[in-house]
Amino acid sequence: MNNSDLLAITREFGDPVYVYDAEKIISQYRRLTSAFKPVKQLKINYAVKALSNLSILKLFNKLGAGLDTVSIQEVQLGLEAGVEPSKIIYTPNGVSLEEIEQVAKLGVQINIDNLSILEQFGSRHPKVPVCIRINPHVMAGGNTNISVGHIDSKFGISIHQIPHLMRIVENTGMNINGIHMHTGSDILDIEVFLYASEILFETAKNFKNLEFIDFGSGFKVPYKEGDIETNIEELGEKLSSRFNEFCKEYGKDLTLAFEPGKFLVSEAGKFLVKVNVIKQTTSTVFAQVDSGFNHLIRPMFYGSRHEIHNISHPDGRERFYSVVGYICETDTFASNRRISEIKEGDILAFDNAGAYCFSMASNYNSRFRPPEVLWYNGKAHLIRKREEFEDLTRGQLPVELELSEKVEKKSLKS
Ligand SMILES: *Cc1c(COP(=O)(O)O)cnc(C)c1O
Repeated sequence: MNNSDLLAITREFGDPVYVYDAEKIISQYRRLTSAFKPVKQLKINYAVKALSNLSILKLFNKLGAGLDTVSIQEVQLGLEAGVEPSKIIYTPNGVSLEEIEQVAKLGVQINIDNLSILEQFGSRHPKVPVCIRINPHVMAGGNTNISVGHIDSKFGISIHQIPHLMRIVENTGMNINGIHMHTGSDILDIEVFLYASEILFETAKNFKNLEFIDFGSGFKVPYKEGDIETNIEELGEKLSSRFNEFCKEYGKDLTLAFEPGKFLVSEAGKFLVKVNVIKQTTSTVFAQVDSGFNHLIRPMFYGSRHEIHNISHPDGRERFYSVVGYICETDTFASNRRISEIKEGDILAFDNAGAYCFSMASNYNSRFRPPEVLWYNGKAHLIRKREEFEDLTRGQLPVELELSEKVEKKSLKS
């Protein structure tokens, strides 16, 4: 996927547009599976919420991956894409017992992360195998918004509540077949990850019928050259050997599971926008593009940094730009970035636009969500159309209000 491929995509499908490189997704998947080769049974469940287009789910299904889902709708998308229910794990937080029961009926692996639901579900369905999500209370990353392992997190059952958890399991006679943790995005440090894993192994010893241990995700990917990323190869080597050792202790070959989103799709994605206006103020040069946080919210929401390249004129003299959108609200993608000189009409490409970009897009300002294109074997495949005006009005039920004189006068006064 070089610049001229990307420019051709904007000519064919318009802008703004999301493009995903299937080969990059495939190579990330293979990188992960080969890092964990020493493990007898490995399962990679792709976290659907990162990028949930059916064609992406089908690609993962072809690769042999399962899915990690957080809502019944994500489960249904997975089934729609042809994924076997037995290859889907459902890891919700704060959803109703009713929804969990509906998902269990579909034959999907349930993962429960609070004692109240565990007790209710266990008493009603003691035969349905359940995985439990543990909070090992390990701080895993830099950004506190995405470190979900610490003490005040709403995620997981605290390791300090294991005695209570065990009483529920014994009283209900339920079948715990998996142990899970997901300590949040941005695990930098392999030692921290291994430390949290030890807590999981310790917890696992309480259960006799385990089939798998799920180490969640949170792998860090590079956002720019020279960025630190999780050393998957080193983690694979160290965790595989420790996992195999644990299986011996446990007396059974368990499955090692992961559920990455970002690692698998982030770098595969490019978001292409057009520069509508170059606006020079007294202190700043703004490049205003035909998008905003309605299409890509991460820089404003999490302070994420996405590299931005001028692919129309990549070799110009670099100048400083603030890249902003067209939303009537502050929507700064980048402040004072060095970018090759931009002319109005140029196409800019955002890197790392595969994970949590389209899936978090909205219709704010009544704009259409962009199309999605999958690049595979040197060809561009449209996998989602650009929205149209009907998409904005679908489901709306216009009501004609007859305003009486009285009402009108009253409201005029106030
Ligand atoms: C979001 C999520 C993931 C994926 O996290 P990444 O940082 O994208 O790899 C995995 N597991 C659970 C339970 C999640 O909620």
